[in-house]
Amino acid sequence: MSIEYRMLCLLRDLGPLSRAQLSDKLAVPRPRLLSEIDRMVSTGRVLEAGPAASRGGRRSTLVQLDPGLRFAAIDLGASSADIEITDGGLEPVAAHSEAVDIRSGPTAVLDRISEILHTIREQGHYSTLEAIGIGVPGPVSFRDGVPVSPPIMPGWDRYPVRDTLARAHGCPVVVDNDVNVMTLGEQHSGVARTIDDLLFVKIGSGIGCGVQVHGRIFRGAEGCAGDIGHIQVEEDGPICSCGNSGCLEAYFGGVALVRDATAAARSGESPALAERLAVVGVLTARDVAECAAAGDNTCVSLIRVGGRRVGQVLATLVSFMNPSMIVIGGGLSGLGHLLLAEIRSVVYQRSLPLATGNLPIVMSELGSRAGVVGAALLASELAYGRPS
Ligand SMILES: [Zn+2]
Repeated sequence: MSIEYRMLCLLRDLGPLSRAQLSDKLAVPRPRLLSEIDRMVSTGRVLEAGPAASRGGRRSTLVQLDPGLRFAAIDLGASSADIEITDGGLEPVAAHSEAVDIRSGPTAVLDRISEILHTIREQGHYSTLEAIGIGVPGPVSFRDGVPVSPPIMPGWDRYPVRDTLARAHGCPVVVDNDVNVMTLGEQHSGVARTIDDLLFVKIGSGIGCGVQVHGRIFRGAEGCAGDIGHIQVEEDGPICSCGNSGCLEAYFGGVALVRDATAAARSGESPALAERLAVVGVLTARDVAECAAAGDNTCVSLIRVGGRRVGQVLATLVSFMNPSMIVIGGGLSGLGHLLLAEIRSVVYQRSLPLATGNLPIVMSELGSRAGVVGAALLASELAYGRPS
């Protein structure tokens, strides 16, 4: 890895550092470091910002990223777009979220994203972007920057997302699957900061899993690694959106939970849900969470049974991969302790003792920001020159 890449990453992750600190951390001879810094100052990526605090002897000059560096981070979900503009250290300087229907197709969605970015630019938050990182809710060919047969993204199959945004904004672009992007975010600045072997489970409308092995995202041959929502948990189960039967997602996830909650409301099995349905017309996962918290037995049981299904699949993955942490994120992580407790109990009961002896299963620390943090990180890796 080049000195430039390693230095930019250090300044991104640790903030301004003195020449002496950089020399220690990079373990390169001082003359070589100084000529590298001079070169980077001339390309406008770093600044020398006056003397650092003395460590005794001559005071060393402080080096920092150019405060004008900007990345765009985009987390595109099935029904929402979250966008952040960050500085070179990935701190947000502007943010925007809105409802976007991924089914309206790539032209409409990407046009809207470009419009939002242009508005943020006109507000003065950036003039040029170093790079854009974007996560999309489906399998992605990371190399080609295109979605590949994404089941919930009609019209997006092999659509040139990377090249379209690169042309529109004049900067390099990196495209990845949304769950991979969340995994990267959580690993870089969330609960999994010190973890190299990680499973990040996103429980949203559906269920997906980011797989990080030896500190790197494992994407698989076709970019589909971690698509655990379509692992079969029962042979003759309900039909799944993928066309098979008995998939994990056909049992649990936002779509399945709303289906089961609505049935429980209509049948009168849950008076609390029936009352809500009568008032609002449509139930959401939040209704189930709130009724469960208020003691509704049916809602408690819906979450418990769902958690057990997820735990059942995770126990298998733990035996297979032996991760050192599992992080639960996504919209349904709002079901909280009840869901987590159930997942934990099944995983700890069923996995090999070897794999669970010291295996934390925890909630995401970044919550709904995990995606944009990971997208910004990917953008910075691209701009700072990470070797592929
Ligand atoms: Zn399926």
